[in-house]
Amino acid sequence: MGIGLTILGSASAIPIHQNFPTAQLLQLCGRYILIDCGEGTQLQLIRAGVKFSKIDQVYISHLHGDHFFGLPGLLASFELMQRKRPLQIFAPKGLEAILKAIRRESGMRLSYPLQIAALTTNASEVIYADDKIEVKNLPLDHRIYTNGYLFEEKPKLRKLDRAAVEKYPEIQISDYPNLKNGCDFIRKDGTRIKNEWVTRDPPNPLSYAFCSDTAYKPELADLLQNVSVLYHEATFLEADAHLARQTKHSTAAEAARLARASHAGLLLLGHFSARYRDCSAFKREAETHFEPVRLAKAGEVLKVDSGKPKMAIP
Ligand SMILES: [Zn+2]
Repeated sequence: MGIGLTILGSASAIPIHQNFPTAQLLQLCGRYILIDCGEGTQLQLIRAGVKFSKIDQVYISHLHGDHFFGLPGLLASFELMQRKRPLQIFAPKGLEAILKAIRRESGMRLSYPLQIAALTTNASEVIYADDKIEVKNLPLDHRIYTNGYLFEEKPKLRKLDRAAVEKYPEIQISDYPNLKNGCDFIRKDGTRIKNEWVTRDPPNPLSYAFCSDTAYKPELADLLQNVSVLYHEATFLEADAHLARQTKHSTAAEAARLARASHAGLLLLGHFSARYRDCSAFKREAETHFEPVRLAKAGEVLKVDSGKPKMAIP
């Protein structure tokens, strides 16, 4: 099934022509997950042809406006659409009070259960898991409390090698689940049919890490080893590294150094400052440290399966 990532916005604080503040739609194992929800997210979802009702989870990195000011509007739209399914939101603790005040003062009612997980931890923890995926928060280093998120497929079952299995008539269909779980087959006389004789390795689980906004934090590499796709903010270029220090953001080169230390499959850069007219310099700067690099552009979709990542305008 793979990863599908729709870039809804990748600008930093000020919306600019042809771009929007941060928001992404992640499709992983059939789940529709919204990551950050800057202004314009609803419009961008419509442009991308995404049915709002499919979104069951929202992950907010931090409470700077360019990362969540689109959320109250989206919640109100769900109400107007008479949504009934619960919506889960993972966000820093303060969001609940903000939404409560908006609902109280604007008279917004909700037709669906809103389940808010208020994050306060400074460690990386499993914050959500189901039968297919697991999500961890990634503590970042920004001006206010901020988390990135790591979305991972759970390990898959081993694949049966049908031709190999047929060589052993003593193996019954009822034995397949054990083989897929990695067990050997034990004959009545106690001898074994080794698991690796009749099964193949499953594809590696895919993973997606979202890191925005943050100062360069090299120790994140310990949490990100072999991540399939690393999205990392690159608000500035190295020439303006002093601004990155002042505002607790990163440069393209720093994002690339983290991708290299993490052995990432692909680095996706975003959150570009409006001061740069031409974003191609971000890619060039990052590529001096790591490849492959792609730029997150509003309206583009990144698809990743077990093969090479592909990015395209749908
Ligand atoms: Zn911020």
